[in-house]
Amino acid sequence: MQKKYQPTVKEQTFLDSINNTKFDRQIINGLNKFIDGDAPEDMQSFYSAEEIKALAERKGTERDVEARMPVKITRHYFELAKKSAAIQVLVKANINETLDLEGAADPGKQMSYSPVEGLIHKYELGLIYVAITCSAHCRFCYREELIARKKVEQADGSVAPKKLAKIGDLVEYITTHNAEVAAGNGRHPQTGREKLREILMSGGDPMVLSNKKIGAWWAALAEAGIESIRLGTKESAFYPQRFDANFFDMADKFHAAYPGTKIRMVIHFDHPDEFLLKDEDGSYIPDPVGGLLWHPDTKHAVSELGKRNWMTVDNQAPIINGINNDPDALRIMQRELRQNKVENHYFFCGRDIIGHRAFNVPIEEAWRILNESQKGLSGIEAHARLSITHYKGKTEVVAVTDKPLAGVPGTENGFVILKLHRSAEDAPEKGLITIVGRNPEAIWFTDYNDRVIYDAAGLFV
Ligand code: SF4
Repeated sequence: MQKKYQPTVKEQTFLDSINNTKFDRQIINGLNKFIDGDAPEDMQSFYSAEEIKALAERKGTERDVEARMPVKITRHYFELAKKSAAIQVLVKANINETLDLEGAADPGKQMSYSPVEGLIHKYELGLIYVAITCSAHCRFCYREELIARKKVEQADGSVAPKKLAKIGDLVEYITTHNAEVAAGNGRHPQTGREKLREILMSGGDPMVLSNKKIGAWWAALAEAGIESIRLGTKESAFYPQRFDANFFDMADKFHAAYPGTKIRMVIHFDHPDEFLLKDEDGSYIPDPVGGLLWHPDTKHAVSELGKRNWMTVDNQAPIINGINNDPDALRIMQRELRQNKVENHYFFCGRDIIGHRAFNVPIEEAWRILNESQKGLSGIEAHARLSITHYKGKTEVVAVTDKPLAGVPGTENGFVILKLHRSAEDAPEKGLITIVGRNPEAIWFTDYNDRVIYDAAGLFV
């Protein structure tokens, strides 16, 4: 039951000052637009007749690709995809996606950490679902269960689609939790958790919401004592025009009203084709002022984000088959992003979502690709680490070697070192490691079940 949320006078003054923009993203929503020939004429050829026939034949069957993940694309992304095989793979439905439907209904067992609707409470961080869609949909999306409105087991054992967070419920949870932590001398008396000081707004993409809605979340979270608000978005790739003057006006007014609450934008570029311009031959174009030439709207969005010293900008992306399992592309992307004040945060191994075998690059191969991509980058450009998200928390793939450890059985073909970055329940577990014997085919932890050598991190318990 939603608690009625009453903004403070200060909040209301801020909210009254926000201007929305009406955007026309020219979105094509659903494969039927292509199947029925209702997509704009120039977009219709995005799928060949054979592709459409094969996809249409699977409609309504258990191999229906849209039952797994709905199709959606903006005009902006379509224009980029016309010139990029890699990012076509990112948005184009493919019958291979449902050949193997193995995977977890709730990757990361997130509902086990959901004390109120729409909140996943881990560490000192809470992740909230505030939107159920994005401007376009990545086929590999690890939130496909939310976006496709699939039913998953809830914390109370019932089975229902994941729900969005509500401001009233969330503010009450945060203030109650933090008051109990303060009374418990820095630890929650029941759960042992610390103060909830950072909230990650996610979904779906929060940037599909209006400025007023985003502002309402930011102000309510700031009033609740949240120190940092993270906003995860792929809008800088799908529709960079969203980062317009009204958005930054709202953001600046928020900062003026709540200078103690910092904004951390976590953007999501998978490939440099999502922001660089190409010449007739398909090559990137040198920028006369240095680096490579960006799409002007994307450049504007990223440089405006980077201008504000109370806002940080980090990029993170999965390494996905056919999209960015390419060291050269990743090298260019990391260099260009860092050059434009975007920190390279994480690259991820794909999660064990339904159908993941169609997308995921083997773990050891993803490590090799990232390592290879960072050759030739400076230390500052090569900050990104490879993470694989265990249900216990983010786990870094630290090293892969084909050399055996003398005298250690199971390492004859080499070994892999994994390090737990965060434990969702217990911060002291940070830094613990696990060593497994190599399995070049492994795409998920379970593929190492039979070759665990050392497991201080408890990843295979
Ligand atoms: S932008 Fe993120 S949440 Fe949206 S479809 Fe892509 S992976 Fe999923």
